[in-house]
Amino acid sequence: ASYRRADFIQYIDSREPVSTIDQDEIAENLTNIYDSDTYGLNAMRQTLPSHCYKKIREVIASGQPLDAQIADMVANGMKEWAIKKGATHYTHWFLPLNGLAAEKHDSFINIMPGDDKVLLEFSGMQLIKGEPDASSFPSGGLRSTWEARGYTVWDATSPAFIRREKNGAVLCIPTAFCSWTGEALDQKTPLLRSMEYVSEESLLTLQNIFNEKYKKVFPTLGIEQEFFLIDRKFYLSRPDLVNCGRTLIGAKPPKGQEMEDHYFGTMNSRIISCIQEVEWKMWKLGMPLKTRHNEVAPGQYEVAPIFERANLAADHNMVLMDVLKASATNHGLVCLFHEKPFANVNGSGKHNNWSLSTDTGLNLLDPGSTPSQNARFILFLAAVIRAVDVHSDLLRASVAVPGNDQRLGGNEAPPSIISIYLGQELDNLVSNIVNSTNNQFSADADMNLGVIGFPPLPKDSTDRNRTSPFAFTGNKFEFRAVGSSQVVNFPCIVLNTTVAESIKFIREEILKEMQTNSRQNAFNKVIKDVLSVHSRVIFNGDGYSQEWRDMAKSRGLLSLKTTEALSLMSSEKNIKLFSADGILSPVELACRQEVLFEIYAKSMTIEAKTLYDLIATLIVPACFKHQKNVADSLNSIMPFIQGQKSFCQPTAQLQHLSDLVDNINRLIEQNQKLMGLIKQCSEIKSEHDRAFFLQQNVSAAMLDVRKISDELETIIDDTIWPIPKYSEILFLR
Ligand code: ADP
Ligand code: MG
Repeated sequence: ASYRRADFIQYIDSREPVSTIDQDEIAENLTNIYDSDTYGLNAMRQTLPSHCYKKIREVIASGQPLDAQIADMVANGMKEWAIKKGATHYTHWFLPLNGLAAEKHDSFINIMPGDDKVLLEFSGMQLIKGEPDASSFPSGGLRSTWEARGYTVWDATSPAFIRREKNGAVLCIPTAFCSWTGEALDQKTPLLRSMEYVSEESLLTLQNIFNEKYKKVFPTLGIEQEFFLIDRKFYLSRPDLVNCGRTLIGAKPPKGQEMEDHYFGTMNSRIISCIQEVEWKMWKLGMPLKTRHNEVAPGQYEVAPIFERANLAADHNMVLMDVLKASATNHGLVCLFHEKPFANVNGSGKHNNWSLSTDTGLNLLDPGSTPSQNARFILFLAAVIRAVDVHSDLLRASVAVPGNDQRLGGNEAPPSIISIYLGQELDNLVSNIVNSTNNQFSADADMNLGVIGFPPLPKDSTDRNRTSPFAFTGNKFEFRAVGSSQVVNFPCIVLNTTVAESIKFIREEILKEMQTNSRQNAFNKVIKDVLSVHSRVIFNGDGYSQEWRDMAKSRGLLSLKTTEALSLMSSEKNIKLFSADGILSPVELACRQEVLFEIYAKSMTIEAKTLYDLIATLIVPACFKHQKNVADSLNSIMPFIQGQKSFCQPTAQLQHLSDLVDNINRLIEQNQKLMGLIKQCSEIKSEHDRAFFLQQNVSAAMLDVRKISDELETIIDDTIWPIPKYSEILFLR
């Protein structure tokens, strides 16, 4: 290994797991510590006058606005609590469209004019509303700079929390972020709107069709988060990892994941120390982290929480990603969220387990054991199937981030053709309904709204088809195509909205049919119709196979690249869908699309430039050194060859040198070609066209460069190769 790499390896060998959590934090205390860093109902009960506590509890349950007097009291309680926890600052924590969490800290201090004493202050107004100068967040053209002010508004349903740093703490207040004209500039606002929409449609349907009354329906989300943890030393010496979060070159190591010895293996002690730190921090923040394990690729891990209401789960996932990043640093590690940081081993996803739950905790996607429970289940199931079929373009677009280009459709990740996996039992059920005659699929005449009687589904009846982008797993759907680096909000917005629209469609069809038909027959007929039209999206086989690609094509299902998927976002159908219930106005939708194209184009451009630099300034010079060594070596034996007739000819060595010269030539040429394309791309005006150009031309050129570089990596003297190799990054810790 080159001197730098050799040093790293020695250094890493000497690294020890670090203990970063308070030694008092033992399991016995966990029940007290859990949630202790959030200003949720518990903390409110302890710090607010009881009438105020009752009021805020109502506000949280109903989502109604907070009046000024109560807001002042809550703010005061929150401030006192936060200061006791060590907070000196507060911030409106929000999720702009750039894919990160944003915050601007204000300290609690204030000085009255003419006074020299510092006060600690935090008012109701400061709690409810903020005005960050937000001109440099992406808005997709929504705000021109002269109207750059945005507002942040507290989402009282997601509790404020404390974020600790080594030298202090910050009170973070989850907020929605809007322009001064009220347009959503963030990921939270439309998520809350879509939650409202799916709640209303579900409540109406439960009431009109099943005579069941509930106060509210919530989408629930359980987010499995995959990531890589690698040593920080390796990370810092690879410009591609630092700039892009993924390796742009790197030869396949002799040992990859083929031994399958990593998955569910014993966790390395440095790694587990890091994840333990994350868990303690997240438990204190009230995120119910439940599982942790090694994933398939070497260096890859997963943590997953117990599911929560969608907006809370989404906020928690954002905080989790931040905490993972920060904790990794404490342990001399780096956490990579990129969807495909290393070629030839698995990439990372973020499985979104999604369902609908009533305020009483009834899971609407739970098959249940009585006919009427089954009927309800079938209706919601049919709604999801229809939503995924009608809006597969949107589901695809919701996971269209640059990193997923490297992952989706690879032979380890769900393909970019959106289909649903139901498992054998449910698939049979759907076929029975579709093939039933006279809409009579009720087995028993007494059944009130009974669909065909089927035995309760055993929970694990849905075997794990890992090849499906969207799978039914017993009592919830698992949207697996979501990328590991993504903010889950948009995929969840799409799910909530499309399913809500389908629920509405089905309810209205049934009610229409009921004008001339019994409720039972109307129900059966509509369900049968919906399933007949949309069951083409169901696929239970191997999603990686060519056979499926062909079959999907003949069924008319879309297979979309990122840029194509993003283009379809603003189609007539989608504009209508999103504006129907005010989830996203046509302008808001167009802005989102614009931002997604912009992010795509920018990150692809950074990747292309990073690769060019990496090759030009690190790889090619290293190749020259090696080339010189080989040439010098050959030169040094020339006198012997020329002097003695019987001396063997260095044919293979000459060939080696010749191949080397050829490879280096091609590497330089391809890299120059890449630079030519980068320049050409920079002249393209629209983000949209640039994104297409990058996907169609630049990414292929990058692969050409990579291929030659990876070949050279296996030839060049190991002590000269300038950057850590896959075999080191993936296996040494
Ligand atoms: P696994 O997929 O590893 O067998 P589970 O099926 O228990 O694990 O759960 C995976 C994730 O799905 C967890 O985060 C879990 O909390 C979540 N989950 C379970 N039920 C629901 C539900 N009704 N809604 C949303 N997420 C759920
Ligand atoms: Mg997993």
